[in-house]
Amino acid sequence: MVDLSNLQRQVIHGTDRVGTPKVESAREAIARVNPEVRLAAHRVRLTAENAFALLAEYDIVADGSDNFATRFLVNDACHLAGKTLVSAAILRFEGQIATFKSHLGAAYPCYRCLYRDAPPPGLIPSCSEGGVLGALAGVLGSMQAVEVLKEAMGIGESMAGQLMIYDALDATMRKIRLPRDPACPLCGDSPTIVDLSPHRAVAADAG
Ligand SMILES: [Zn+2]
Repeated sequence: MVDLSNLQRQVIHGTDRVGTPKVESAREAIARVNPEVRLAAHRVRLTAENAFALLAEYDIVADGSDNFATRFLVNDACHLAGKTLVSAAILRFEGQIATFKSHLGAAYPCYRCLYRDAPPPGLIPSCSEGGVLGALAGVLGSMQAVEVLKEAMGIGESMAGQLMIYDALDATMRKIRLPRDPACPLCGDSPTIVDLSPHRAVAADAG
């Protein structure tokens, strides 16, 4: 649901949408810009049970989720379903963006090559807990849109295998190489994650 505290960074919503479902608010906002955009709003929580069916209709996934359980689920589902993932994250004064296409083979890492497992709940604060400079969402969101379009059109240098870090306080952008980890449990040489069943255990733990 759209909350007043979201509006300083989630510019797709306005004060008149507070209390309404975010997917509906976003759908209406996009339709106002261009009624010819084909939109499918899925008002569901992404789970191990529905992930493949939801991803099946798309070629590229843009993840901007606010929790690690979802980020790992999206990464694993995209790898197993053969989808390209453009992932962006923000916290406080920093943003990170990377493209993952580990399904294309050993030349490419996945999100687990960067972060092996989700940290325990509560260790890393979310934006609502730790705070975030609102305009950062716009910076990273626009960069993410650029990378999605590049992947769709096959132009330029893909961000796959690289991680871009934007430090807003420093006004600097650093791009670091992100190699595939041969010991990665998902895309490594001897994968132990071969379906989404580990995410069912996580969901059960979380109650
Ligand atoms: Zn990996």
